[in-house]
Amino acid sequence: PFEVLVVGGGPGGVAASIYTARKGFRTGIAAERFGGQLNDTLGIENLPGTEYTEGPKLTADLERQVKAQETIDVMNLAKAAKLVPASRPGGMHELHLENGGVLKARSMILATGARWRALGVPGEADYRNKGVAYCPHCDGPLFKGKRVAVIGGGNSGVEAAIDLAGIVGHVTLIEFDTQLRADQVLQDKLRSMANVEVLVNAQTTEITGDGNRVNGLVYKDRDSGDEHTVELEGVFVQIGLVPNTEWLTDSGVELSKHGEVVVDSKGATNLPGIFAAGDCTTVPYKQIVVAMGAGSKAALSAFDYLIRTEAA
Ligand code: FAD
Repeated sequence: PFEVLVVGGGPGGVAASIYTARKGFRTGIAAERFGGQLNDTLGIENLPGTEYTEGPKLTADLERQVKAQETIDVMNLAKAAKLVPASRPGGMHELHLENGGVLKARSMILATGARWRALGVPGEADYRNKGVAYCPHCDGPLFKGKRVAVIGGGNSGVEAAIDLAGIVGHVTLIEFDTQLRADQVLQDKLRSMANVEVLVNAQTTEITGDGNRVNGLVYKDRDSGDEHTVELEGVFVQIGLVPNTEWLTDSGVELSKHGEVVVDSKGATNLPGIFAAGDCTTVPYKQIVVAMGAGSKAALSAFDYLIRTEAA
């Protein structure tokens, strides 16, 4: 058994494992895919201390750092299916893997991240990172002075449109429903901006490109059924970030109505000895540096738990 078992091998889980290993705890990382969302990320320019890196390079750097720690055991391609919490404080929690294996640890750190909900229209997957983007904080500056669309009129879509309008040349916000669902104050702010157009009742049907980069988007006016083309250089899809927590349903770990693991300011869940970090939690702002900070915090909380709790 491990003293600490980290579930997830993205920036949050890796940061957590480095901290617990350096406390001398036998630490396991069980990850479906080491590196997490970093594997799908091209340029990263907002990690302090690293002016520019790319997702796969950062993954390799993290892997090297983890492998240098003798007390960390990485289990890649290990997908968690079920968590069975200890029946008493200080007892062993169990992680049941999809492949049938069972891992045990007195303390666990849940860091299974999240995935962006995709539109599922032709062109979206082909032009991912070639004009199709999901994170305005990350990729907004790449579209300086250009024309972009934001798909989705909820809070995240309207916030993204406001954010982008200050950087890019023009923003077209496209909402499927007959009205925006964002808070009124955000809608008012958006509509006050000169370089923004809002389209409602509009269904995005295709993202087009020249083979290398995005050059437009096709939407259907849901009233008339007419199709229209918008020429642009970028499309930000903002229709939801889904936490990878399906495997925690029925575990007893408290989840928010959006399925995020509910954590306090120390990264503790509602269950003793079980902590969580990163995009799978209620932490505001889903970013690499935020996930790393949360991972280190959860690790120090796990340390605190382990030194104060008798093994049972
Ligand atoms: P993740 O990176 O999602 O990692 C989750 C880990 O858990 C993975 O190892 C995954 O395989 C594993 N996992 C999931 N389910 C299970 C399971 N059931 N069992 C076992 N393991 C499981 N942020 C920035 O700060 N700057 C950027 O420039 C930037 N660009 C981005 C570009 C793209 C295209 C995307 C998608 C995201 C970008 N982000 C960026 C966001 C950033 O990648 C995330 O905030 C960060 O990766 C979250 O880290 P995490 O460890 O919480 O989760």
